[in-house]
Formats: sequence, structure tokens, C-alpha cells
Amino acid sequence: MGYSPSQNLEPQTQTQPHLLSTSPSSFSGTMQPIFRNGPDSDTYEKARTARLFNARIPARYPTAIVLARDERDVTEAVNLAITKHLRISIRSGGHSYASWSLRPHSVLVDLSGLRHCELDQESGVVQVSPGITGRELSDYLAERGRTFPVGHCPDVGLGGFLLGGGMGWDQPNLGWACEHILAVDLVTATNDPKLLHADAHQNSDLFWAARGGGPAFPGIVTKFHLQTFPAPSVMRSSGYVYDIIEYTEVFGWALEITAEFEDSIEVVAIGSYKDGIEHPCITIALIASSNDEEHITTILEHVDRMHPPYVKSRWYNQDTTLSEQFDLKTKAYPKNHRYYVDNAFVRNDADVASVLERAFTSLPTRQSLALWTSLVPLSRRPLPDMALSMQSDHYFALYAIWGDGSRDSQCMTWVDEVMEGVARQSVGSYLGELDFRSRNTRYWGDGVWERLMQIGRKWDPESRICGCLGLEGFLNPES
Ligand SMILES: Cc1cc2nc3c(=O)[nH]c(=O)nc-3n(C[C@H](O)[C@H](O)[C@H](O)COP(=O)(O)OP(=O)(O)OC[C@H]3O[C@@H](n4cnc5c(N)ncnc54)[C@H](O)[C@@H]3O)c2cc1C
Repeated sequence: MGYSPSQNLEPQTQTQPHLLSTSPSSFSGTMQPIFRNGPDSDTYEKARTARLFNARIPARYPTAIVLARDERDVTEAVNLAITKHLRISIRSGGHSYASWSLRPHSVLVDLSGLRHCELDQESGVVQVSPGITGRELSDYLAERGRTFPVGHCPDVGLGGFLLGGGMGWDQPNLGWACEHILAVDLVTATNDPKLLHADAHQNSDLFWAARGGGPAFPGIVTKFHLQTFPAPSVMRSSGYVYDIIEYTEVFGWALEITAEFEDSIEVVAIGSYKDGIEHPCITIALIASSNDEEHITTILEHVDRMHPPYVKSRWYNQDTTLSEQFDLKTKAYPKNHRYYVDNAFVRNDADVASVLERAFTSLPTRQSLALWTSLVPLSRRPLPDMALSMQSDHYFALYAIWGDGSRDSQCMTWVDEVMEGVARQSVGSYLGELDFRSRNTRYWGDGVWERLMQIGRKWDPESRICGCLGLEGFLNPES
């Protein structure tokens, strides 16, 4: 069958129980890269941009784009890069805010055509392609009574999400998503590209790097082997919306309730504009997932009794589903908008409410968001030996979101200025939700960057994989 690039740019529907879309065999090895200087500039531009989440699309142009459908295409893409003396950039879901997949002098390997998803019911291990989205995996598992901590926004690709660490649903119970990677299959970017399996026993250095190395991972992951969990029987939500003038009291309350939790409930403070309200609001939202309905109700009741007065709207202990929560996130993070984001792990001993006050109270547009979430108790336990190595009790992310390009400078300056203050009280940042070029901070613990570079020199000696945009040339990004 002929290779139609546009086919792969459209969302694909489930046609078989184990393959979320067409069989890889339909490609039959006839790779047709789309070249920047080729005859069809519209096709090239669509392949370059159509799957990018951030509408602030950089003027970075890969030399060629390969819309891969199977591992062989990926290997051929590496061979193309070797032959043409190009580097390799990678796209799974296209959700990197800084559009890391767009790099000059590169072959962009777009993995959206790899559509494998297969659960082994006995072991609970799912094998899944990196271009599958969080919602696709979640829906597939839900039908089979299983769950996995996928990202909060439904369309985020598993590739970038898992390699970066992955802050997913039910994180307090399930931890970092990358902790549940059991193995990865990958194509190396070496002169003789190979399809390898990496786990705790074989190619264990690659397995270590796949869990938190992010764009520093020195290969192209074509499949993840993930441990899934029995789906919890109950998911409940409570929420409290206040005018921003109540910020100090409300934030103090959120800190108080999270500090006393022994149980794992997701607690988030959101600074945002609400329909029909002129000023920004602060919302405290709680999501509880468990098999013990009575226990959850007791905790949410306890929290509800303590909530500060003057609440503008409130919902309490409501049944909810992941699907419903995905829909809310889709609304909160609109497509076709311009984004500039940054984040920080705020120090455990900081006066968190004061540190974040400017962010919550000065949002530059009605779509923008400030978000704090407690990582307790997850942050109190040691992490396994893996590249992901940065966390604190308080995760904070700042999203300037706007529609009109003429506001770029205003919105980006706002994020940079607010983060300058926050950074002074932080221990580092999560590499999944930022642009490395905006400021220098710590993304990993001591020695991790050096180890990543060492693994990179072994598995990608020609430095073909484009890597971390903005960290090139840094021997130690922490200094
Ligand atoms: C609206 C929105 C919501 C988000 N919510 C969350 C959230 O809840 N939790 C969270 O943790 N993060 C979240 N993120 C951040 C997200 O996880 C990262 O941006 C992630 O990199 C996106 O993955 P992707 O595959 O979609 O991105 P892509 O842009 O396709 O990939 C980003 C980079 O990751 C590397 N990469 C991707 N796939 C592979 C692969 N198969 N092999 C080797 N390298 C690869 C490449 O360097 C690539 O350029 C969110 C982002 C957005 C835009």
C-alpha cells in the first residue's frame, strides 16, 4: 500500500483489540521522507507543524521528516540521517511546549504511526507505542479493569511524558509514571542502527536513562513495557472556588490539609479566571481514587468541615471519572493557543504562599494558569535509581496562555519575571514542562547529567540525537 503522509496526521480510531490502528505491515518498507526542499511544501509544512500543541511555532526546519509506521521505518530514518550527515529529532505526541522535535539539519522521526497497544492480563504489563496518547492508553486499560498514571492532559504522548518522568493522575498513590517502566525497545542512532531491548538486566544503562533522562535519552524508543494497576473502584472530587482576595487564607488552608494527609489524595491549587467573574480566582481541587469509598468520604468530609468562608462555589465528594477529568483539562489547556511555561520544585522550608502570590494574583490573560500541587507523601520517600532525581513537597507550574501573537513579549516577560522570584526559593525544575533556554536551573540530582552524557557517548557517539535544546555544550547544567 502506498504511503500517504496526511493519513498519519489524523487521529486514528481503534480497529482491533490489540492494535489501536492500522497494521504496520501496510507500509511495506517504502519509506518516503518528506524533504524541506521537496516539491510539495504544503505537505512538508503540515508534517512539520500539524501535530504541535503550542501554536507559537518556532522557525526551525528539519531537513526531512519521516512519518514512521514501524521499527523498520525508524531504522531507515536513522540510515537516512547517516547518509545525509544530519542529526535526528523525535516526535511522539508533539506536546513539548518548546517544540523540541523541530530542529534544523535533522531528520525528524514522527512516531505517531506506531500504534501498538497490548495488555497481558495475567501480568498486567502493557506494551505500548510512544505516540499513543494518555487518553488512548487510559481508555484501553479502563475497558480491561486496569489503570496507569498517564498525564493530566489527554493528548500528551507517552513518549515525551514517560522519558521526562511523568506526573500523572493519582500520583500520590502511584508515584512517578516512569517508575513503572519495566523495559523499553529502542532503535539506536549508531552507525549500524539496531533494535534493542533495555531493562534492569540487559542494556541497563539505557533503561536507567529512559526513566527521567527526557530529551537526553540517546536513542529512539519504539515501545514501552509498563506495569499497570487494577483500576480503583471509586474516584471522587471536591472543589472550592474563592475570589483571589482570599488568596492567603485559602492557600494556607491547602498547605494545612496536605501537611496532615497520611492518605494519598491529589490536592491542587489553581489560579485562573472563571466564566462570569472579572478577577482571578483561586480553586482548591481534590481528587481521591481508591477502593475504599467509606475512607475517602471520611477524609473529604473532614476537609469540607475546615474550608474557609466566602467560598464562591463548591462541589463536594462528587463521583467523577478519568474521562470527565480529561475533558476538564482539555478546556483548561486550549488547543490553537500560544503557550510559554515554566515550573519549579519549591523548597520544602519556603513560605510557599508568599513565594507564589505574584503568580496567582497577576495572570496576564484570562486563559493563563498558575498551578501548585502537593507531592506529599511521594516526595518523602527515596526515588529508585533512575535518571529522574528531582522533586520536593511543592510542585509549581506557570502557564501563560494567549491567542494573539502580538502579546508574545508581554506574556513571556511575565513568566520570566515571576519565575525569577520563585526560582530563588526552589531546588530545581521538572524538565517536562519548560524550555531549557529560559533559565539555568537543576533538572536532575548530583551526577545525573554526567552519567547521561556518558551513556550518550556510548550509545550515540556521533551525537546524532538532537537532545536537550538549550543545554548543548553544557557539561553540567546545574552549575
Ligand atoms: C497541555 C499539556 C499538558 C501537560 N500535562 C502534563 C502532565 O500532566 N504531566 C506531565 O508530566 N507532563 C505534562 N505535560 C508535559 C509533557 O509531558 C511533555 O511536554 C512531554 O515531553 C510531551 O510528550 P510528547 O511525546 O507529547 O512530546 P514530543 O514533543 O513529541 O516529544 C518531546 C521530546 O521528547 C523526546 N521524545 C519523545 N518521544 C521519544 C521517543 N519515542 N524516543 C526518544 N525520545 C523521545 C524527544 O526529545 C522529543 O522532542 C503537558 C504538556 C502539555 C502541552
